Parts: sequence; C-alpha cells; structure tokens
Amino acid sequence: MTLQQCQYKTGEVLGSGTYSSVKLAIHNETGVKYAVKVINKKMMEGREDLIRNEIEVLKRASTGHSNIVRLIDYFETMNNLYLVMDLCTGGELFDKICQRGHFFEKDAKDIVGVISDSVRYLHSVGIVHRDLKPENLLFRDNNSSASDLCVADFGLSKIIESGKFTQLYHICGTVGYMAPEVFKKTGHGFPVDIWAIGVITFFLLSGTTPFDRNSKQKDEINAIIDGNYNFEPAECWNAVSDTAKDFIRGCMNADPDQRFTAQQVIDHPWLKGLGDKDEDLL
Ligand code: ADP
Ligand code: MG
Repeated sequence: MTLQQCQYKTGEVLGSGTYSSVKLAIHNETGVKYAVKVINKKMMEGREDLIRNEIEVLKRASTGHSNIVRLIDYFETMNNLYLVMDLCTGGELFDKICQRGHFFEKDAKDIVGVISDSVRYLHSVGIVHRDLKPENLLFRDNNSSASDLCVADFGLSKIIESGKFTQLYHICGTVGYMAPEVFKKTGHGFPVDIWAIGVITFFLLSGTTPFDRNSKQKDEINAIIDGNYNFEPAECWNAVSDTAKDFIRGCMNADPDQRFTAQQVIDHPWLKGLGDKDEDLL
C-alpha cells in the first residue's frame, strides 16, 4: 500500500463500469467522505492513455464549474489507478427518471439547464465529454435539486486542439446517446455533446428513448444515422410544449453543422422559460 492510499479507508461500492469500480473513501485524518474510482490497469492494458487522459481532463475541467465533479487526488499502485473525487450521494439521474417515469417540463428544464451550462463551460475550455447520459449525471445529495446535479465520468472525454473541431474518429460512447457523425466516421467534436443533451431531454420529458428499435442494435444505429425519431407515442408527448420539442429538434439535428451550439442551447426560449405550457396555463 502506498502512503497516499493509506490516507483513505475504502467502503461500500457505489457503482461500477467495465474497467472500474467506484467506492466510498473516507479520509483518515479529516473523516471527510469521497468517492474513489478504482481503475484496473491490467484490464486497460494497451489503452493506458485513456486513464491518463481521464486525469488530464478532470484536472482541466473540475475546478471551473460547480456542476462538474471535482478531482481531489489521484495515485496508483502496481495494479490500480485511484481517482479520488467529490462524493455524490444522491444517485444517478437515470434512476430518478426510472422512478418517476418522466419529468414535468418545469423540472426537466431546470435539469437540462444545468447540464447545458456545464457543457457550455466544458466546450469553452476545449473539452468534449462524449459520454453524456443519465447514468453519468449524479446528484450531490438526496435533495435531488437541479443545482446539485454533477457531470461525471470523463473516461471518454477529449481535449480538442483549438480550431480542429472535427478531429475525433474513434467510435465510442453509449449507442443510444451517440450522434450520427460518430457512426458515419466523418469526424466528430463538440456537437456530439449537444446531440446527447437532446436525447437526455427527450428521455426526461417522455420516459422513453428516441431510437430503441426492439433491442436490435443495427436498426437502432441506422435510425440514429438517419436522424429518424419522432415524438411518439402521443400520450407521452401531448402535454409537452412545442418550445420543448423545438429545443430537442435543434439539439438532435442529424447534421452537426446545423445543430445548436452550446450557446444556442443556453439561449433557447425553452431554457429561458418562455413559452412553457405549464406557465401558459397559469
Ligand atoms: P465508468 O467509466 O466505469 O462508467 P463512472 O465514472 O461512470 O465509471 O462511474 C460508475 C458509476 O459509479 C456511476 O454511474 C455512478 O453510479 C458511480 N459514481 C461515479 N462517480 C461517483 C461519485 N463521484 N460519487 C458517487 N457515485 C459515483
Ligand atoms: Mg459511466
């Protein structure tokens, strides 16, 4: 055990992914609780650059915005790499959507506003996240208020050199949230995060995802490439305002050059609170 590792006691598993598990960590001296992401170096063999990359991105991202999970410390042993981060005890946005079925517009708008502002900040410092989805959006505490939502998991993120906006070619992400240009291999960049904001908004408002095709992944990918989605079934969308649908269309434009930018997302009337059906009714 290294000196640094001795500073923390690890506890229950908070979550896990393919190459990592995330555990509770308690700092011995201060008693402060954190989350530690333990990445197995053996399983990442040949792709060590990915884990170094996650540290580099977190270092760049994590102090500038209150809704981005902070990297507190990192260290490694022979077998593992440890990333000590802020602890988010409120769970994943994914579970909240599943519990509630869907979100009302007012609540969805607050959540999407926080995600969008975080993405605007990430893009402004040259970071594309590439894995935005409700499983990677965590609440700091059990109040689950939008202002306590945190963007996490920078495992697939990239720092984009200035001016080279479509320099990434590697296909990665989570299929249902991946933009058409990622599959087309025409090069991708910042706009993939905006597409994911659109998919997340779609999911929040309806409780359904836009491209599920009877669990056939090939059909799902073809639908994404064609930008083939609609606001159905009607019972999920009847109560949703046209402004919200316009917001989703702007984010989920199959052409990345026509898609909203992060600034256009922030400035959209839906996020600015104009034209909301709930408000129209008052
Ligand atoms: P992976 O790259 O394996 O998906 P993540 O960074 O997304 O790893 O972490 C996996 C899961 O662990 C998350 O979906 C979440 O449930 C949990 N988790 C991650 N970071 C934290 C954190 N800072 N606080 C609490 N739970 C976390
Ligand atoms: Mg994850």
